[in-house]
Amino acid sequence: MPDLRDMTDEPGSSRPGPNCPSWCEHCPEPLDPPGARSHNGRVVAASGWDGFQEVNLEVKPAHFEVPRPRQGGRPEDREPHVEVESSVLGDPLGDPVSFTVANARRLAHALAMAADAVDHEQQR
Ligand SMILES: [Zn+2]
Repeated sequence: MPDLRDMTDEPGSSRPGPNCPSWCEHCPEPLDPPGARSHNGRVVAASGWDGFQEVNLEVKPAHFEVPRPRQGGRPEDREPHVEVESSVLGDPLGDPVSFTVANARRLAHALAMAADAVDHEQQR
């Protein structure tokens, strides 16, 4: 597999550029603000059930990097973070949910503990 980071970073390209984080795989340049980059890492998909229908989740590392970050606001809007998008039959169920790295780890740990509890009960 070629190293996409070595490829030319053409204007308007969505390929990772030389200043991208190592996890960046898709990197569109938004029109606003000028000089911004939208870093996106590898997407991992999973599905669940909400009681009525299958819900598809996509998890990825992300960072909307702007030349002059806004002051204030949510930390996940200014720093690399983890995004979770949910959809049903390809239709988004709202805006992506952003987690700080610490909260993403907390959620992953909670999911693993809940799965372990179910596994343990089923093995009794
Ligand atoms: Zn990037």
